[in-house]
Amino acid sequence: MNPDSAAALAGIVWPVVAGRSHREQLLSLLRQFEQTERMAPEQLLRQQLLQLSAVIGHARRTVPFYRDRFGGLPAGMPELQALPLLTRRDIQDAGHGLRSTAIPPQFGSTHENRTSGATGEPVTVLRTVLDALLWQANTLRDHAWHRRDPALKLAAIRAVAPGTADPPNGVEAPNWGPASAALGGTGPAALLTLDADVAVQADWIRRQAPGYLLTYPNNLAALLVHFGQRGERLPSLRAVLTVGETVSPALRTACREVLDVEIQDVYSSQELGYIALQCPASGLYHVMAESVLVEVIDAAGKPCAAGETGRLVVSSLHNYATPLIRYELRDHATVGGPCACGRTLPTLARIAGRERNMVKLPDGSTHWPLVGFHRFRDIAPVRQYQLIQRSLDGIEVRLVCDRGLKPDEEARLAAVIRDALGHPFTLQFMFFDGELPRSANGKFEEFVCAIG
Ligand SMILES: [Zn+2]
Repeated sequence: MNPDSAAALAGIVWPVVAGRSHREQLLSLLRQFEQTERMAPEQLLRQQLLQLSAVIGHARRTVPFYRDRFGGLPAGMPELQALPLLTRRDIQDAGHGLRSTAIPPQFGSTHENRTSGATGEPVTVLRTVLDALLWQANTLRDHAWHRRDPALKLAAIRAVAPGTADPPNGVEAPNWGPASAALGGTGPAALLTLDADVAVQADWIRRQAPGYLLTYPNNLAALLVHFGQRGERLPSLRAVLTVGETVSPALRTACREVLDVEIQDVYSSQELGYIALQCPASGLYHVMAESVLVEVIDAAGKPCAAGETGRLVVSSLHNYATPLIRYELRDHATVGGPCACGRTLPTLARIAGRERNMVKLPDGSTHWPLVGFHRFRDIAPVRQYQLIQRSLDGIEVRLVCDRGLKPDEEARLAAVIRDALGHPFTLQFMFFDGELPRSANGKFEEFVCAIG
């Protein structure tokens, strides 16, 4: 027996978490990722199902919720698609009943992950040190894929607790985080709260002169308007890293035009960790198949084929504290095809957003709005916008503009909006000063359907 396997974490079938120290475990995972990301798709799926089967077995034995839910199923690995979906409502209703009564001690201590109220249905999920380890391994993989220079500075603007990274200076850290630090360190990092005014954020970024800027897509959109109006570039900047919201093709174009850098996006959730990373070669999103099993299903529950858009259903392969099996995230995604980069991890072509971000038409059909901030800017000095559907034929248009709009500008905006929404909606324009309000967790949605 080699020393690595002697130290491997018992209970984990795949990938093997080997090594005695944090650093050894991270390196072992990264070495495996180099192989697993080029595995034949059917072999990859087989490994995922093996690991998921271990989690399902553990859940049936030690989690009251699953003992009831899976009790009637035959022993062994059930057909995945035969398992019922786990909804946010299920998680709320189950409470502690969704927690394992016997979390394997080798997985380390647990911590609670609370998702914020953006969706109106906050949930609490318990995660272990093992989940944190996989999170960190995928963080390092993201840096490696995009060949980021670890010597440069990483500046982040995120929603944080009041008092932790206040303007005008935020806080500084000696490295990018625990994963990078474990592997020999990086350049410094800095953090500023998202609550800072856009002009204050821009000043802060200028002073920080980062190699990489990390923030939310809608905040980036506001910063791009700010920098764009001044014709200002950030010479130190190599890339913008985005998290937390949907990145539109228009935002990618704007980032290229204004700052002359690319957006590198990550799709993750607080409950599940990393779900997919944007491929540096193609822009497709590669699923982090070593830690999550992702399904995209249609309205009838059948798997979508490449090019089709459906609901995202995700199973966590390593959460032994609050097992999440076929968890319905309520995001929609388009299934991608094989990627030219040679990595065989499954792909998503587009992550479209949440059901509540779809337009409802009077005939009962729903679709994704095609609204685009930069089309608005061609017509009028619109700094920020948000559309809220209040009824089947009425939309509230919230705008922050640099000055009052002329009647013809409002009429042209209305035409663009009706065109993008695919229906001659009655539009109610509302004008705001400063910034439009965000939801509690700092997220901002361009289109929200508020019909109950
Ligand atoms: Zn790729």
